[in-house]
Amino acid sequence: MKKEPTFPLVSLSRLRMGTDGAGVTTLVIGMGCPLRCRYCINDFTWEPDCSATAVTVKKMYDLVKKDDLYFQATGGGITFGGGEPLLHAAFIRDFSKVCRNKWNITVETSLNVPEQNLQIAIECVDDFIVDIKDMNPQIYQRYTGGNNARVIGGVKLLLQNLGPERVLIRVPHIPEINTPENVTRSIAQLRELGVERIDEFSYVIP
Ligand code: SF4
Repeated sequence: MKKEPTFPLVSLSRLRMGTDGAGVTTLVIGMGCPLRCRYCINDFTWEPDCSATAVTVKKMYDLVKKDDLYFQATGGGITFGGGEPLLHAAFIRDFSKVCRNKWNITVETSLNVPEQNLQIAIECVDDFIVDIKDMNPQIYQRYTGGNNARVIGGVKLLLQNLGPERVLIRVPHIPEINTPENVTRSIAQLRELGVERIDEFSYVIP
């Protein structure tokens, strides 16, 4: 028998507004990320030290449904964050079947996941919020420890399949890592790809 996907839930935050997608949202944080960003504020999600609870689709629905009225009144819903939520794309797909058309599903992602995960997400996620870091591969590598080739491929895939209105790309100024010129260049490259929704901001280092 096929094993039901579960979500490694690290934390859950209710009644959020204006930070994680449209309307009122509940943010669920999952364990695991392929990157190691220097200023990560959610490094508590990194394996192997992270502790999480494996929740089923039904359990997640039960945890989140108390805000159903708020979600429906504001066009909000559930936001999957992390860590990297698209590591759990199969869970999000199954979860979408129990709440589709009722709640908005948003992911906050680096897009640095296998293409097959992204293909699953394209079928079931309403809105993508992507932290692009920097478009320059060397800067990206220096900041995250990873390669951004599949991130750029992922942006193209999202635009082709969903159109620009469902994709918000966040472009950070990263202290000691990129310059204002680097950020301007990243934004220009993203515009060339067809990105329309860009949020330029600065990381605040604690
Ligand atoms: S992608 Fe996000 S969660 Fe992962 S290390 Fe970077 S900032 Fe942290």
